[in-house]
Amino acid sequence: MTLVLHGISAGKGVGIGKARLLRRGYFEISHYSIPARYLHDEVGRYRAAIGAVRRQLEDARRQIPRDTPLDIFALVDVHLMMADDSAFAYEPVRLIEQHRCNAEWALQMQREMLLQTFRAMDDPYLRARAEDVEQVARRILLALLSERPEPDQAGAPLRDCIVLAEDLTPAEAVLLQQQGVRALVTEAGGVASHTAILARSLGVPTLVGLRQASQYIRHDEQLIVDAERGALVVAPDARALRHYRRRAQRAQRARALLKKLTGKPALSRDGVAVALRANAELPEELRAAHECGAEGIGLYRTEFLFLEREDLPGEEEQLETYLRALRVMAGAPVTIRSVDLGADKECPGHEPRTGGHVNPALGLRGIRRCLKDPAVLCTQLRAILRASAHGPVRLCIPMLSGLEELRQVLSWLERAKNELDAAGQAYDRALPLGAMIEVPAAALMADGFAARLDFLAIGTNDLVQYTLAADRLDEEVSYLYDPLHPAVLRLIHLTAEAGARHGVPVSLCGEMAADSRYTRLLLGLGLRDLSLHPAMLLEVKQAVLRSEVAAASEYARSALAADDAGAVALLVERLNRSP
Ligand code: PEP
Ligand code: MG
Repeated sequence: MTLVLHGISAGKGVGIGKARLLRRGYFEISHYSIPARYLHDEVGRYRAAIGAVRRQLEDARRQIPRDTPLDIFALVDVHLMMADDSAFAYEPVRLIEQHRCNAEWALQMQREMLLQTFRAMDDPYLRARAEDVEQVARRILLALLSERPEPDQAGAPLRDCIVLAEDLTPAEAVLLQQQGVRALVTEAGGVASHTAILARSLGVPTLVGLRQASQYIRHDEQLIVDAERGALVVAPDARALRHYRRRAQRAQRARALLKKLTGKPALSRDGVAVALRANAELPEELRAAHECGAEGIGLYRTEFLFLEREDLPGEEEQLETYLRALRVMAGAPVTIRSVDLGADKECPGHEPRTGGHVNPALGLRGIRRCLKDPAVLCTQLRAILRASAHGPVRLCIPMLSGLEELRQVLSWLERAKNELDAAGQAYDRALPLGAMIEVPAAALMADGFAARLDFLAIGTNDLVQYTLAADRLDEEVSYLYDPLHPAVLRLIHLTAEAGARHGVPVSLCGEMAADSRYTRLLLGLGLRDLSLHPAMLLEVKQAVLRSEVAAASEYARSALAADDAGAVALLVERLNRSP
């Protein structure tokens, strides 16, 4: 009998295939003694398992698409570092020798010890690393037990299948994609989970948050993942199969058609021009931005220069990085955002004093943090200014919450310019300066910012979290985190209007810009400049080409007056269905 289960869509599209249930969790480990003469072999077994894990992770890292957000690479790197660390690479070897026990038991002892240590940590970031310890230990254990089916070891059996797992790490998702799975389904996870984000750039139809789905599905059962509608069809009948096969073929043809839009101007049906720019962090993303025909970089996040290192990046190193971005973008403007450290982006060599309070999203992050430590800000400003002598650079400031902060930034910018003048260094004297509008206070003060600045950039990722008081990383409140909430739309509209009044361009560079379901709504709210992940740019361009701004504005007006996000969602559906 056909059964339909509902989850949260992550990657797009439709996948049809046989079910493969991946075993999860840690296994019952038996403990046995190893005779002294075999200890050497047991240590060898353990080292071989570590080597295999390292190779799997390195392989996974190489296969991550280059336009994937930086934090996904960082997650795989954390696992690689852990596998290389003495805690996993050597300590279990010592335990095998000391206790004359099997490798699995030594690993188990070490795992317990590490979990206890991590879980007792005060720092929530470090406490959360317990999850990584668990995943790395599990991976080593599977390599030891040669347990199958492990995605990266099962090989051919997973090709063309739909994998159902309790949860998947980003590395596992990459390995599964490499093996040619048709779709992924996880019982855990929310829309902002790292695996969900990765699935989107991998292009694998994915559903997350299908709680207890494995209870209803047998190995080898026919499944359809409809990631457009968030549905998992179990044991579909012939009619459903025909329907979904046709849809999967259509989707494939549509992908091929999208490629043809590269280089075509993004004009709505009623002739409104929309600038489509790219968000980038890594050099690879810059290349992807250039290749998909982005009109420059609308948001160049610079945190990657600061993360995963003990020291701070110097002026010359930063200059070199910004010049490289300019070279890749070949004359298109690059909007460099001053560093937005804090909250979930920590830099070991540059940690703030928290005064014992723990709410990093509301604490010292972004420009607040730089203003507390102006040396970091000044170095970066000088590097950005110097880069501006070589190509079109724009400077953008994150997390501004008021004009007083802007005044301070302007004075540090002035000082950086004076220093460069004194040193005889060239820079663009009219370097365009803009503010990220991502705090409700900034949106409410948008007129003040627009009057003093050259552009505004709405960061909806944060604007949504701060407006709705729903942490963007907390799955428990993800049901509240909704960019369609009328309060969020009103702040976006307010900002767009303030920009229009002052003749200052307003872009939107949060994830909302990358979702083609919202393109018409955003045009209707007055936006003419969107910056998004290069992987989504052509799809959003297609949505622009099919839009009529006049009609979208009507719907947007109703959305602004709506009572709640549900009502807006219905309006958006109608707007998107309208011709
Ligand atoms: C945003 O908040 O929407 C944004 C683009 O910045 P980040 O995601 O880097 O916080
Ligand atoms: Mg932000």
